[in-house]
Amino acid sequence: MITIAIANQKGGVGKTTTAINIATAMAATGWKTLLIDLDPQGNASTGLGIAAADREFSSYDLLIDQAHLASCALETEIPALDLVPATQDLSGAEVELVGVEDRTHRLFNALAKANKGGATAYDICFIDCPPSLGLLTLNALGAADSLLVPLQCEFFALEGLSQLLQTVERVQERFNPRLGILGIVLTMFDRRNRLTDQVADDVRDCLGKLVFESVIPRNVRLSEAPSHGLPALVYDHQCSGSRAYIALARELIARLPQERKAA
Ligand code: ADP
Ligand code: MG
Repeated sequence: MITIAIANQKGGVGKTTTAINIATAMAATGWKTLLIDLDPQGNASTGLGIAAADREFSSYDLLIDQAHLASCALETEIPALDLVPATQDLSGAEVELVGVEDRTHRLFNALAKANKGGATAYDICFIDCPPSLGLLTLNALGAADSLLVPLQCEFFALEGLSQLLQTVERVQERFNPRLGILGIVLTMFDRRNRLTDQVADDVRDCLGKLVFESVIPRNVRLSEAPSHGLPALVYDHQCSGSRAYIALARELIARLPQERKAA
């Protein structure tokens, strides 16, 4: 199983939208896919149609109680896509973890336990992070092989990014040398807006090949889909947003380490 954290400490940049739709695209391509909702707001869970009342076990149990992955994962309406939902109590986890010895390794340990001898049912796992660089995100970075960064094309985008990349370096040095950067995906791109265009050019100049060719356009269908409890890819698979996520999934597969693709 390859594990990909979707992180950016800024809120509202498209992490959850990317998590839901890239996970759906991978599942549709035949990869057994898991999405772990690690944001106490639970937007990925709601967006996949899992009501709060149905979240008996959650990412909180996985993290705090080291519950078994199989008992926390729920099937979704999407074939080959399972979800570990988030519940309100996850907002307390950040504080509860402070005094715990292996506080940055909790998620890694839980996933490693489930994956012993390649035992999990999943080929790929995405982790939707909260908008901060606190212990929840550190757990995601500690568990991940790769980081996917959604970046909104706006004026301060690059500033926030350098802070995130510094955190990645620290994580690599201190507790997860495996962590690589899979890439940066530009989100909410609006070609009629010259500032957006300029930011996209600057980001590409600065970060080169780290930036995916595929760009996610601003598309109202992407923002409507969660209120129907569906990925945009199911709600309207032909809209420009869905097509962009399918293209992104193709690029993402091409960037995965060769040996994993056979999974
Ligand atoms: P994050 O998880 O980083 O906080 P979200 O994915 O929840 O960000 O996106 C924030 C808001 O913007 C949501 O209401 C979402 O539906 C909307 N949104 C995200 N991506 C797009 C897009 N490409 N076009 C239009 N709306 C978008
Ligand atoms: Mg989110």
